Amino acid sequence: MHELGITQSVVEAVLDAVAEPRITRLQLEIGKLSGVMPDSVRFCFDLVAQGTALEGACLDIVEPAGSGRCHACGIECELSDPIVLCSCGSADVTVLSGQRLRVRSVEVA
Ligand SMILES: [Zn+2]
Repeated sequence: MHELGITQSVVEAVLDAVAEPRITRLQLEIGKLSGVMPDSVRFCFDLVAQGTALEGACLDIVEPAGSGRCHACGIECELSDPIVLCSCGSADVTVLSGQRLRVRSVEVA
């Protein structure tokens, strides 16, 4: 499960950046095209956060849809699935956004 490694990296990055003894809330953005399962991240988060400043923190995950430009019909389409397909049926789509996983905000006690 690669979400465990991802969650570990996120938690380490937050702990590195925020030198507070207790973090109460962490908001993550996981793009719908990132291929990362938010439920798995939630599950791993409790394990990884144990014994750190993030233990017991509220984990907020927002999942923005992605967007892409179709080369067949030229439109910009919203993409909510990792299988990138335009409404015209073409898979010749350049992904513009939605693949990102990032920390949006952190709240401390
Ligand atoms: Zn198209």
